[in-house]
Amino acid sequence: MNPIRGFVLVVSAPSGTGKSSVVQGVLAKDERCVMSVSATTRPIRPGEVDGKDYFFRTEDEFQRMQRDGELVESAEFAGNHYGTPRAFVEREIAHGRVVILDIDVQGATQFRATMPGAVMLFLAPPSIATVEKRLRERGTESKEALKQRLARIPDELAHAKFYDYLVINDQLDTAIAAALEIVDSEWRRTSRMNLVGDWCPKEEPTTE
Ligand code: ADP
Ligand code: 5GP
Repeated sequence: MNPIRGFVLVVSAPSGTGKSSVVQGVLAKDERCVMSVSATTRPIRPGEVDGKDYFFRTEDEFQRMQRDGELVESAEFAGNHYGTPRAFVEREIAHGRVVILDIDVQGATQFRATMPGAVMLFLAPPSIATVEKRLRERGTESKEALKQRLARIPDELAHAKFYDYLVINDQLDTAIAAALEIVDSEWRRTSRMNLVGDWCPKEEPTTE
C-alpha cells in the first residue's frame, strides 16, 4: 500500500558530518527517494555540476527567485544564500515520492512551520573533533570559509533536539541503514494512507 502523497525528509547536520555521503547512500538504495536540488549563490566546487548538485545562481537571480515566491524556504549560511525550489517539492510529493531536503538548521525550522507533515532528521558526528577533521580533510573550503563553518558547529548541534530523529554518522553504512529505516517507517504511517482495499474491514471499529 502506498501513501496518498509522499513526504519531505529534511536532513540537517553540521557541515562536514557526512550528510551528502549519507543522503547519496539513501538515494542509491531506495527508489522512492528523490533529492531536491537547491539554488545557491556559493561558488561551485571542483567536481560539482550545475543543476545536479545545486542551481548555482548570482545574488540578483537568487533575490528574484525569492521575490517571485519560487523558494519554499531559504537561509544564509557562511556568507552565501541557499534556497529550496518550490515547484519540484510539490510535484514530487504529489507523485508519492520521498523528497529529501539537505538544508541547514535555520531553513529546517522554517520548513517545519510551513509543512507540518515533514519528517526531520538530524545527523550528528560522533564528536566535534571528528567533524572538524572531516571538514579539513575534505579540503573544499578556503581558509576563511572553513573558519566560518567551524564556528557554526556548536550552535548547529544545539538544534538537534528540534528534530524528530537523530542518527550519528560514525560508520557510514550504519548511518545509511538507519536513515533507510526511518524512510520505511514513515512510509508505513496510517495517517498517510487511504485505508481502502480487500484486506480492509468495511466497518468503523467498535469503541469496546
Ligand atoms: P557534509 O555533506 O555533511 O558537509 P560530506 O558528505 O561531504 O559532509 O562528508 C565530509 C567528509 O567526511 C567527506 O570527505 C566524506 O568522504 C567523509 N565522511 C562522510 N561520512 C564519513 C564516515 N562515516 N566516516 C568517515 N568519513 C566520512
Ligand atoms: P554546502 O555549501 O556545504 O553545500 O552547504 C552548506 C549548508 O547549506 C549545509 O548545511 C546545507 O545543508 C545547507 N543548504 C543546502 N541547500 C540548502 C537550502 O536549499 N536551504 C537551506 N536552508 N540550507 C541549505
